[in-house]
Amino acid sequence: MRDWAVGLFRCPACGAALRREAEGLACASCPARYPTDDDVTSFLDRPNAIVAREASAVSTLDGQSPEATERLRVLLGRFDGDGVSPQDLLEYRCLQHALDSRGQIRELLRSHPLSPGVVLEIGADHCWASSVFLDAGCRVIALDITDHLRLAPRASDPGLCRIKSDMNAPPLRDGSVDTVWATAAAHHSWDLGRTFREAARVLRPGGRLYFACEPMPSWLRYPFGTDFGHEERALGINETWVPRGRWLRLCATAGFEPELVFPAMDRETVASRLRSRHLPTALAPLALPFLRTLQVSIHLVATKLGS
Ligand SMILES: [Zn+2]
Repeated sequence: MRDWAVGLFRCPACGAALRREAEGLACASCPARYPTDDDVTSFLDRPNAIVAREASAVSTLDGQSPEATERLRVLLGRFDGDGVSPQDLLEYRCLQHALDSRGQIRELLRSHPLSPGVVLEIGADHCWASSVFLDAGCRVIALDITDHLRLAPRASDPGLCRIKSDMNAPPLRDGSVDTVWATAAAHHSWDLGRTFREAARVLRPGGRLYFACEPMPSWLRYPFGTDFGHEERALGINETWVPRGRWLRLCATAGFEPELVFPAMDRETVASRLRSRHLPTALAPLALPFLRTLQVSIHLVATKLGS
């Protein structure tokens, strides 16, 4: 546990301050203890049933082989140093997804730069995006429900603090962070309205929320199919397909001023999407004007109102 982070936390059981002790953090008021193992502090002692099911599904998917884990650690290290090869991407397909998302995050940050200060990153996974925020000069509290946090390429960075916690019960004091970030993670929430309310609670007034690369389909997208995440859902992963209007409504209700940001799509990207749906690529120039309506993975950037 990082010194700078201890004072930002509060006991999820009773709301009191936490203090450091030999094995982790302890509540100053009630008997609750939050153990630290491998530099990751766990606040997931009594997880919500949906969270428990998803964490168990992820661990089943990961398998138990120590060799595979070590191999992934090496690949994540290369990814972090921008040195990932095409073979690496074929070997571990999630890396390709992370690479695409990291490109979109960097693009988003060029138009909407981070404020200096502390970023709460929800659903931080292997902390591959945390590195982008560290490079921007921020400190990061990386939150996830899985042990993927242990493989963070910058685990020893003094600016990176890793916690296991439910995104709907972040163990943070009111107004304690400058930014709340998620990359394709907020849609795993078991209560999206609560996710926005908790984000608003922990953010300082004027702080920003970024929900990047989240599936936010418009109603016009629905006739083209909702073929998203069926396999993952069958395994116990909480994949959801929430209409764009509902994201905006829940965000505004929680006290934010939301803005949708659409990742740039060039003609070749559009053509490849059409190919994957067995549609003629000649449609690409025709599709471009309608992209915003049909794009599913987009960004929501929101500012917390108030002073
Ligand atoms: Zn307590």
